[in-house]
Amino acid sequence: MSVDESWSPSSWKSKSIAQDVEYPDPKHLAKVLGKLETLPPLVTPAEIERLRHQLGRVQKNEAFLLHAGDCAESFDACTHENISAKIGLILSFSLILIWGARLPVVRIGRIAGQYAKPRSSKTEKIGDREVLSFRGDNVNGLDPNDRTPDPERLLSAYFHSTATLNHVRSLLTSGFASLHHPRGWSLNHVRSPSLRKEFEHIVDGLSDALDFSRTIGVESGPSFEQGGGRGTVGEVDFYTSHEGLMLEYEQALTRAFPVPSAGAHTVPPRMASYNTSAHFLWIGDRTRQLTGAHVEYFRGIRNPIGVKVGPSMGCEELVRLLDIVDPLKEAGRVTLITRYGAGKIEEYLAGHIASVQQSGHPVVWICDPMHGNTETSASGLKTRHFGTIISELTACLRIHAACNSRLGGVSLEFTGELNEQGFSVTECVGGSMELSEEELGLRYQSFCDPRLNFEQSLDVAFLVSNYFKK
Ligand code: PEP
Ligand code: MN
Repeated sequence: MSVDESWSPSSWKSKSIAQDVEYPDPKHLAKVLGKLETLPPLVTPAEIERLRHQLGRVQKNEAFLLHAGDCAESFDACTHENISAKIGLILSFSLILIWGARLPVVRIGRIAGQYAKPRSSKTEKIGDREVLSFRGDNVNGLDPNDRTPDPERLLSAYFHSTATLNHVRSLLTSGFASLHHPRGWSLNHVRSPSLRKEFEHIVDGLSDALDFSRTIGVESGPSFEQGGGRGTVGEVDFYTSHEGLMLEYEQALTRAFPVPSAGAHTVPPRMASYNTSAHFLWIGDRTRQLTGAHVEYFRGIRNPIGVKVGPSMGCEELVRLLDIVDPLKEAGRVTLITRYGAGKIEEYLAGHIASVQQSGHPVVWICDPMHGNTETSASGLKTRHFGTIISELTACLRIHAACNSRLGGVSLEFTGELNEQGFSVTECVGGSMELSEEELGLRYQSFCDPRLNFEQSLDVAFLVSNYFKK
């Protein structure tokens, strides 16, 4: 990627910025950012390049992308239990896809940095007080008395991201992801007997396949992840992501590095700006203005990026946005995350696909069936209906096929979190566990958008896996 000289990690500052956060003490902010600039990168250029390569394979129909995790992480939820439950669910979901669809899965978690949230309104009414809206743990507190943006929270976000990523890395290199023990990812609490049976069927089949491989001595054959990956059966690549919303933070973690190239060493080395806070960052639906600060920042980083695409995106606007962030039409650079809502996808998706096809931009398309389908339940809790989520997802699969395109993956808000008694959260209605609206209050733990629980997520995994099964 060549970026013109008008770009720098701070060039976004000359543009108008949506969803800005106003800090009362700019000197305090500057001090924190100065510290962040000296702290080590969380991820490396080699990992970022490997993800770009793998997304290029998704775009060529050679792999499937799973992008999933919380709507927003919280500092308090940075625990061993929560992190391992999330990774366990991501691994179980991808195992179902790999087994059914016989496709490698690229896993990107909404994890280790997904703290900031865009809001539709700057303030909100709590009781009879009008207070600043909660913008995520890296900005202010959920407590209505703690809503003044505090720069120290950016530093705390960095350290919580680091602790989370460190734990993810240690889980993945200590046998947690081993396909030899997928039962360890815990299915004990799944109440639906058919769901449990279906998953156990896969695990049994997999154990047989691994035994067979061991017997004939091909256990350590090259894996999908090779080309920089680990290449051992039972170990997996895993990538981190968050919405690139807080540009001061993203800028402080943006570093110039030589582009690692396989074998060939160019002299002098080609330099690029990597956002080292996550492997993958996305632009949200509220911050994707063509002349705005976020698009300006994103166009210059070398990471693969996501762009949320909703009903308010025009066809021409979408192509202009791609021209800005991907002028050289590079494989693996852009993933379009569509989120129209089940009632609107028919109206918009085909037009967006046709425009992108005509433009020649090689994008990955993934379906976010969550964000266009949020409702308020009778009790006032934000929820999403499983049936509506599935309806957008199946429409998305069908429309892509009809347009001679292909859905390359899904973007989900889900959690494998269990409470102390071993029960899943109750935030979305329906699924094979038939969760009712009345049950939502039982274990509603999200402080942001409602997430699919473990069972509901596996339901989605089986649906997608059966669709791609030939
Ligand atoms: C999100 O992914 O949590 C989000 C806020 O999505 P969107 O920008 O699509 O509304
Ligand atoms: Mn969300």
